[in-house]
Amino acid sequence: MNKRPQHDLFQNSQRLVYDDAVDLTLQSLLAYGPQHDHWAVAWSGGKDSSATLTLIVHLIEVGRLPRPKTLSVFYADTRQELPPLAAAATEVMEGLKRRGNWIRTEIVRAPLDKRFLVYILGRGVPPPNNNTLRWCTRQIKVDPMAAAVERRLAELELPENETVLMITGVRQGESAIRDRRIEMSCGKDGAECGQGWYQKILPEAKGIRGRIATLAPLLHWRVCNVWDWLKIYAPSEDYGGWATRVIADAYGGDEAEEINARTGCIGCPLASQEKALETILLNPDWAYLSPLLGLKPLYRELREPRHRLRKAGVEVLKDGSIGKNPQRMGPLTFEARLMGLSRVLEIQAACNEAAERLGRPRIDILNAEEEARIRELIDLGTWPDGWDGDEPTADIPLNLIFPDGSVQPLLV
Ligand code: SF4
Repeated sequence: MNKRPQHDLFQNSQRLVYDDAVDLTLQSLLAYGPQHDHWAVAWSGGKDSSATLTLIVHLIEVGRLPRPKTLSVFYADTRQELPPLAAAATEVMEGLKRRGNWIRTEIVRAPLDKRFLVYILGRGVPPPNNNTLRWCTRQIKVDPMAAAVERRLAELELPENETVLMITGVRQGESAIRDRRIEMSCGKDGAECGQGWYQKILPEAKGIRGRIATLAPLLHWRVCNVWDWLKIYAPSEDYGGWATRVIADAYGGDEAEEINARTGCIGCPLASQEKALETILLNPDWAYLSPLLGLKPLYRELREPRHRLRKAGVEVLKDGSIGKNPQRMGPLTFEARLMGLSRVLEIQAACNEAAERLGRPRIDILNAEEEARIRELIDLGTWPDGWDGDEPTADIPLNLIFPDGSVQPLLV
């Protein structure tokens, strides 16, 4: 652990340009923190939650914030993280461990069958989209976080009426403070996928309802405040010596503020642009990861009718009622899943061959265990609930059936 005395953000000689922003953060932490013996941070490794985490630890270390009995840091690893951010997260976790056992770090992942690629390629559920099929954030981020928090609550053996303070990196800027609005969207520029969900949905999750209180101490920060902290202050030994500069570099270094990329999975099907990855690839050190640009088009392609099944007519649901969406498109065919699997493996192999050649970090978005499980689920003939695999593929023309059951024959 760094033994040098750390600078205090509030000393006159060291005042930050954004001291008002930090001051408000401190006020909120001082108002709510001492009401809880145990704190936790839902950390995604993106810019906002990384700034939140490292600033809090700094404020505690310089004596501005009373130290809680424990600080549980839950790192949400979707297995689809951008490589420089994953590397920075590993280093930040090392820094946290060096600070003593009052900080407990845990890597949180979805169970094998629920992980992004296993769910798509093994179970056959199409990649998520913004309209009807946004299954990913809850499944790969929120539910595993809720399970991890529930386990920690059990370990802490808290009395009935005591709650853990769950800190998130939700950041909405000044306008949001005025509107009291927490965005759930993660598709817009500058957002960090999952943080709004941790703030709004986590407290209601089964097993932890009523047992956590959430706080977003950077809610009012502007993006320039975040970059200043990550790039200039946090990496300096005086403020903790955090490995956060690489996070800012991943988002474009000095241009990061203007680029304002969102944080989320590589190839996120919900984002209109792949700004973060494209920015990373401009850095010669990370340019070897360019095959990852193939993921987003693959996810788009997998949603096409030729790769999916379709209900042939009106659907009778389990409870005997009639489904509202006749002829809806459904899961991926086995051929499509195997095609997707081989494309992902090719992309990963191309990155890793270059990594070996250049002496750079390898990537790991699909490991041997996940690949084996995908192949096993396909071999077992696995379909999502409500599908049995004998439905036609969605590119076969059918008579048109309306929700009331009336039929318009195919025009030939
Ligand atoms: S980043 Fe995209 S793919 Fe990943 S959980 Fe968020 S919305 Fe889903």
